[in-house]
This record gives sequence, structure tokens and C-alpha cells, in this order.
Amino acid sequence: MIVIERDAAANGASIRNFGFITVTGQQAGQCWQRAMRSRDVWAEVAPKAGIRIEHTGLCVAARRPEARRVLEAFKATDMGRDCEMITPETAAARIPALRQQSIVGALWSPHELRVESREAIPKLASWLEKSQGVSFLRSALVKDVRPPAIETTRGTVHAEAVVVCPGHDFQTLFPERIAAYGLTTCKLHMMRVQPAKAAPGLGTAVMSDLGLVRYLGYAELPEAQALMTRLRAEQKPHLDHGVHLIVVQSADGSLVVGDSHHYGETLDPFAPKLVDDLILDEFDTVLDLPGRTVSETWTGTYASASDRLMLVDRPLDSVRIVMITSGTGASTSFAIAEEVIADLFGSVSQGTPT
Ligand SMILES: Cc1cc2nc3c(=O)[nH]c(=O)nc-3n(C[C@H](O)[C@H](O)[C@H](O)COP(=O)(O)OP(=O)(O)OC[C@H]3O[C@@H](n4cnc5c(N)ncnc54)[C@H](O)[C@@H]3O)c2cc1C
Repeated sequence: MIVIERDAAANGASIRNFGFITVTGQQAGQCWQRAMRSRDVWAEVAPKAGIRIEHTGLCVAARRPEARRVLEAFKATDMGRDCEMITPETAAARIPALRQQSIVGALWSPHELRVESREAIPKLASWLEKSQGVSFLRSALVKDVRPPAIETTRGTVHAEAVVVCPGHDFQTLFPERIAAYGLTTCKLHMMRVQPAKAAPGLGTAVMSDLGLVRYLGYAELPEAQALMTRLRAEQKPHLDHGVHLIVVQSADGSLVVGDSHHYGETLDPFAPKLVDDLILDEFDTVLDLPGRTVSETWTGTYASASDRLMLVDRPLDSVRIVMITSGTGASTSFAIAEEVIADLFGSVSQGTPT
């Protein structure tokens, strides 16, 4: 097996995300199930690959009664079975940095894992290379895929079957097939926040009301309508810039904080401070971390579709194009990979090119 990558090292969405393997909040049904399965694969693979699990679980802090009602409705679904509704006092006892006065309740989920993506992805590649017999051909652009030949800028590679995972590159491989899905791209602002030296650790991921109208596992509940109405009245600039709050912690105590969502065919390269300020506004409303500073900012991009979270296209019997068209790839892609490999190798054994 060989992985072909045009860059010298992973540099795309997979190292720019939160490293937050999220189960609670994923869309009910297949996405939630894939997230649960992918979480289990991460838990199995991480220790073998020397990847540290930075923390587990998730606290969704409700700032408004409308948000608490969404969380209560979520708790009543099958997906909420292992979650817990907790009071502001309990939430603040578990996460001392939470502003108890700002919240009216919280949902506690046990399912999530957090890894440090920029370290985890290279470690995963190194483990695959050293102990799983996978080769990596880096700094090699794939120009054409016609199994058994894959043409790259570093020569021809032979393979029985190919999975094309181009991220948000819609133009290099199978551009007409990809164009048929009417995809666009999404740009996200991210930052690293340094709490003051004596600040207490979070110990888990933190989200808030704004996430409840973005994450489909909550947003598709009828109770989310009332929350959306109130957010439109009270936090319109946040909604206009697609801002919601995710906070996760790294081993050194720093926090990865985001994010925003801007959509377009060709996204500009600019990262206005206004957007970061909106993210930090929500951060400071939920968390009390005086003296915090921003030590790093970056943007990330992913493929986006209005009608699907991911796609698997079959240009040839022995080729699949697999694209995550939403911000769910860190949480679901191990399960999707298992499905694609099972499907592909089933069909390759009978394969006739089309
Ligand atoms: C800021 C941000 C936050 C996110 N937060 C979350 C989150 O909280 N939870 C979650 O589950 N998901 C999250 N995501 C989404 C998740 O990161 C993506 O869905 C996932 O990383 C997509 O993986 P990928 O391998 O398809 O794309 P990428 O990681 O972008 O990798 C695609 C790779 O393909 C290579 N490539 C493309 N074309 C060619 C070619 N022709 N030849 C050779 N190489 C090629 C590129 O160089 C690139 O390395 C987030 C994404 C971003 C950007």
C-alpha cells in the first residue's frame, strides 16, 4: 500500500483542525455511528502510534434557557443515552474556569477524544510506515489515475485499486466528476490561546450555544428553532461570520480555540481581526481566564456541500473519490475508510473498468 502526497508533509485540513474527535452533536444516524466507530479506532490506534490522548469528553455550556432546552431534548434521544445534564454548579466544579454566572446548565458527554493534530498526523504516518507496511511518496503530485497506473510528478506508481482523497482540490483529478457535486470551499479562523500561568486546566472540550445551531445533532432538533431566533437577535455578527465556540487543551496548557465559517469558490487569503474578536468574545463570555493571550492564529480550508456531509464517487470499478464535504472528517474518516476499503476490494476482485 502506498500513500502519495504532493506536499513534503501533511499541511491541509487534517493538521489545522482541533484534533477533536466529536461524537455528541454529529448528525443523527450514519454520521453519529461513524463518529462512534472512528472514536473507537482512534482509541485503539493512538497508543500504538505513540499519540497522546490530550483529554476526553465534552462539556456543552448552555448560556440561555433556549440552549438548555436543546440540550435536554438531545439528552432524551438515543444519542444522549450516556450523556448527563448538569447544573452550572456541577459544571463549574468540574471545570473551574467556566463562568458559572454565565450559564444555566450544561450537557456532559463522555465520548470525545482530543489529539494534537499537528503531531498526531505525522505520528500516524510514521507508525503506518514503520509497522504496518505502508509506503509514503511525498512531494509527488498525482496527475492521472488509471489503474494499474498512477502518474505522478515523481514517476509512475502501479496499484490495483486507488482511493483519491483530494481534500479541497477540485481541479487536478477527475475534475468533471467532482464538479457534478457542486462543491464549494469553507475557510475557518483558528487560534492558540495561552492562559495565564496559574490558570486551572479544562480537562475536557468546551462548547456553547452557538454550536447548537451548527452541529446537526442538535440543530435538527425542533427545540433549536427558538434558540436560533434568540441568537439572531443577540449574536447576529457571530452568526454572520459562522462563528461558534470549540475550546480544547494541549499538553502545555495552551488552548486551541475556534472557529468561523466563510464559504466561496475561491476564498480570499485574508484573516480579519474582527472575526477572531468575535470568537474571543464568546470565549470570554463562557470562560474566565484573565490575562489570556493569543499566541498563534491560522486558517484552514475544507470542501463543503450544502446537501451532504461526505461523498464517495466511483469513476472506475477500481477507483473511489472520497471527500469529506463538512467539518466532520477528523471525527468520521476512520469509519468511512473501513467502508470504502470493504466496498473497493469487494468490487476489485470482480472488477471490470467502466
Ligand atoms: C480549521 C478546521 C477545523 C476543523 N475542525 C474539525 C473538528 O472539530 N472535527 C472534525 O471532525 N473535523 C474537523 N475539521 C474537518 C477535518 O479536518 C477534515 O474533514 C479532514 O481533515 C479532511 O481530510 P482530508 O484528508 O480529506 O483533507 P486534507 O487534510 O486537506 O488532505 C488532503 C491532502 O491531499 C493532498 N492532495 C490533494 N490533491 C493531490 C494530488 N493531486 N496529488 C497529491 N496530493 C494531493 C493535499 O496536499 C493534502 O495533503 C476541521 C477542518 C478545519 C480546516
